[in-house]
Amino acid sequence: MTTPQHICIAGGGTAGWMTAAALANRLPHSHYRITLVESAQIGTVGVGESTIPHIRQFNSALGITEDEFIAATSATCKLGIEFTDWGKVGESYIHPFGELGKPLAGIEFHHLWQAASLQGLDVPIESFSVAAVAARQRKFSPPHASREHLLSTYTYAYHLDASAYARFLRDYAEQRQVIRVEAQIREVKRDHEGGPITALSLDNGEQISADWFIDCTGFRSLLIGDYSQAEFIDWSEWLKTNRAVVLPCEKDGPSRPYTKAMARDAGWQWQIPLQHRIGNGYVYCSDYISDEEAEHTLRSTLPGEALADVRFLDFKAGCRKQLWVQNCVAIGLSAGFLEPLESTSIFLIQMGIAKFLEHLPGTHNDAARNQYNRELTEQYQVIRDFIILHYYLTQRHDTPFWRDCQAMTLPDSLTELILAFRDSGLVDKKQYGLWPAVCIGQHLHPKQVDSRVAAIPPQQLIGMLNQLKSDIAAQVATLPNMDDYLSSLVAQTPLQKSGMR
Ligand code: FAD
Repeated sequence: MTTPQHICIAGGGTAGWMTAAALANRLPHSHYRITLVESAQIGTVGVGESTIPHIRQFNSALGITEDEFIAATSATCKLGIEFTDWGKVGESYIHPFGELGKPLAGIEFHHLWQAASLQGLDVPIESFSVAAVAARQRKFSPPHASREHLLSTYTYAYHLDASAYARFLRDYAEQRQVIRVEAQIREVKRDHEGGPITALSLDNGEQISADWFIDCTGFRSLLIGDYSQAEFIDWSEWLKTNRAVVLPCEKDGPSRPYTKAMARDAGWQWQIPLQHRIGNGYVYCSDYISDEEAEHTLRSTLPGEALADVRFLDFKAGCRKQLWVQNCVAIGLSAGFLEPLESTSIFLIQMGIAKFLEHLPGTHNDAARNQYNRELTEQYQVIRDFIILHYYLTQRHDTPFWRDCQAMTLPDSLTELILAFRDSGLVDKKQYGLWPAVCIGQHLHPKQVDSRVAAIPPQQLIGMLNQLKSDIAAQVATLPNMDDYLSSLVAQTPLQKSGMR
């Protein structure tokens, strides 16, 4: 009989418990045993409530049903993000989940829309997204199963209570033999500098030895931070925000099935609706505004009564050069941080776990490690570029922060993508997000469109688009309000029925 390999997860925030739950679900207990160390005294970062649709795959792979998840995390559904005052003050657009319109004869929809707009169509591009139209009306239903149906052209994510999600995953993981140790890590032991980790020494006198160590210790990066190969690559020249002030408040009415991202003088402010409260935060750059001013802006624009004291958080945009060194893999904030504008951090945790499982070899293997590092750092870079895009495309000149964002020198990778879109409406398929929604939402229009569009007579094109817009509006009108949908779902869960929530 083989001795099971031991995986030790350091840290029990969203990253730690997502990792523990996924590994406990996917790895055979006869071959692997899992321990998680966390310290209630240190606590978690306590934010991270807006997600992207991939979280549904994560839950589903773990066998977690939507109704139990929504009941346990007070979640609401999310159809996209509304960006207010980003292009210009007074404007807003939605970056929706799913498709924009429908492609025609292989021509992507934004080419059709651009050509029709030049011929006189006066309809915003978001009117061709089922998700955006439903979001504006606070309607929601899961997409239609038939791919032919207009209501199958969108997808969705959740707004969730991050602490409740970690608790829920903890129960899940502990039921699957993950051992939780409550203690503070005092020392990370290695045989020699730069070598594999042999054990963690805890403040209760215990030592935990293991074959693998997953660093989920958040911004502290207690394990990975000691490796020179894992130096932090600073991206703050492009992503300037470095601080956030956060404050939950009471609800202001029916829940919105979207996150609000409102541009402010030195950054932006989020509103994330849960079933029982709204999460709020102002993400800003401390070179341009003081904490007092940021707090004042947040408080004066809260949609409801504050429910707690304000908290301030520090961060820096960037990613470790290597996220897997020796037998140590960093997942979550210990691996890197991209500000929450596109709600991508939990997704990056998910990617880290999925790739770790894919690359987990029986032996410590250089090739697997290198591939993991390449794939993960590319993913961080793709998302980094997409977030920078929002700042760069602003046409605001009203504050030094926004003027500096427009004037920044972009990473080469992003310059190419912007030029390709601007000159010919091209979107690189490997990129994250719906580029046309953000580019057009912030006034970057393609100068030329797909040459095949010219074969469609202009009046026919405009007629088709007007018809599509009406069809979408008619279909969205049949959807329930999101709060009604959630109430019906939550009322059906065993948790709710037995009063366990
Ligand atoms: P943490 O939550 O900090 O957990 C670290 C864990 O390590 C804790 O359990 C702690 O106790 C433990 N630990 C640390 N040191 C020790 C020690 N010495 N001994 C024992 N245990 C220790 N992500 C999204 O996807 N969507 C969002 O909308 C979003 N918004 C965000 C807004 C802000 C302002 C910030 C800063 C982040 C946001 N994020 C968001 C990111 C998200 O919060 C994190 O990705 C997520 O919470 C995972 O954090 P973590 O588990 O890596 O770290």
